[in-house]
Amino acid sequence: MRQAKGSDDSHLNQERNSEPLLNDSRQRQRPEVNIFWFRRDLRLKDNHGLSKALRGSYPVVPLFVFDRNILDSCAPDDGRVSFIHEQISQIKEELKSWGGDLKVHYGTAEQAIKELQQEFDVKHLICNRDYEPYALTRDLAIKRLCEEHNIGFHQFKDQVIFEMDEIVKDDGKPYVVYTPYSKKWLKALETNPLTEYPVEKHKANLPPGDLGAMPTLEYMGFKPSAHRVLPYDYSPVMAQNYQGQRNFPGLTKGTSKLSPHLRFGSVSVRQIVRALLPIEDITLLKELIWREFFMQILWHFPHTVTKSFKPQYDRISWRNDPKEFEAWKNGQTGYPLVDAGMRELNTTGYMHNRVRMLVASFLCKHLLIDWRWGEAYFAEKLLDYECSSNVGNWQWAAGSGVDAAPYFRIFNPMTQVDKFDKQKTYIKRWVPECDLPRYTKPVVEHKMARTRCLETYKAALNEVV
Ligand code: FAD
Repeated sequence: MRQAKGSDDSHLNQERNSEPLLNDSRQRQRPEVNIFWFRRDLRLKDNHGLSKALRGSYPVVPLFVFDRNILDSCAPDDGRVSFIHEQISQIKEELKSWGGDLKVHYGTAEQAIKELQQEFDVKHLICNRDYEPYALTRDLAIKRLCEEHNIGFHQFKDQVIFEMDEIVKDDGKPYVVYTPYSKKWLKALETNPLTEYPVEKHKANLPPGDLGAMPTLEYMGFKPSAHRVLPYDYSPVMAQNYQGQRNFPGLTKGTSKLSPHLRFGSVSVRQIVRALLPIEDITLLKELIWREFFMQILWHFPHTVTKSFKPQYDRISWRNDPKEFEAWKNGQTGYPLVDAGMRELNTTGYMHNRVRMLVASFLCKHLLIDWRWGEAYFAEKLLDYECSSNVGNWQWAAGSGVDAAPYFRIFNPMTQVDKFDKQKTYIKRWVPECDLPRYTKPVVEHKMARTRCLETYKAALNEVV
């Protein structure tokens, strides 16, 4: 045993000593640099980590990684990959016009950092914080890698106004109800400077020189997607009209379309909040607080990705009928507003919030299909997919989450049409055959489904039927 171990060690040493690239680069004195690693902050305007990096003592090599741990499970025409590719191409072009460049790696972050180390003497790795479960695990591994190689690892708050446990109850416990959380958030905002972090003015700290080509979508096994991220709008006119318009999916410009941009950081949340502050009606601002509410829920209760926040809801006997699930996914339930929503999602990668609430409720309550199935389908399809918002809202719809819809509130898919799409503008856009005899028969009868849902939920929650 001992001997084998010894010989193993010497083999490793030999390999290390005989690594030609490392020796070569050591001999030629690798330039000292810091790395700034873009993740979900795909912009050059008001970027906290990048601005701090550029103000540091070493030139900054910007890096983006097309992460195979994520990409390998995406469909070839995934709209998010196309969007990221476009954003990264633009950032690379802009950095070039400033005299710098962007290193784009296809593989893993570990590989990218090790590769850069061959060329540069990396002093610090800087990035903006990401709070999703996969990102936390990845960043922990990168932090360890940095420690092993004597590289400083620094993270900054960028994608939220308040993170982690910055907004908690007076006793330090997390809020699990939105309204008091939002009040504390708004109070804290009064003393938050909403600092702007400039990037271009520090561009002199970008090292000159070429950092290699960008992998094409095709090279990575993808093709351009028909699902396009639409431009956002948080103008004063939008914000002022938002409350009156946001519930009507027939209006194509009734909401801000900020969600995918916030997801990938192609807009700064500080910039949005700065613009919204003078607006009298704060309804839109309050939606941004919902986003941070769910983010802090995920941070405090990471198990809610797979488990109900209220554990008794995991006793529900879901029916999980695969045929009904297919009908729901394909927009073939026979309920026009539900079908319109699912077809909008399948065709564009987006769905109006009002309709998301209905289709989620319909899946969990009318069809008694586990919210985790719906959550996973949305995660696959939504351009704005965000773990915290998706899980939080699905658990809200199922009744199992924080501050959730009570289990006995079951959206009626017919009266929802009267309330929110009376002229059927939205429905006709996605389900033109809705008034024709050939339109699908309802997959389930509403009244029966309602009673069945109440009985099933009550049984699980030990409520008297
Ligand atoms: P606007 O109405 O203009 O709102 C502005 C911003 O506020 C949004 O971009 C978003 O960042 C935030 N916001 C609004 N409503 C919510 C909400 N209920 N919860 C959290 N943040 C909110 N949003 C996502 O970003 N990613 C998701 O994966 C996601 N999954 C959802 C799943 C279900 C079942 C439901 C009911 C909602 C989900 N939402 C999700 C929330 C919401 O539907 C979208 O944020 C919104 O429709 C995006 O369109 P918009 O940018 O025009 O929104």
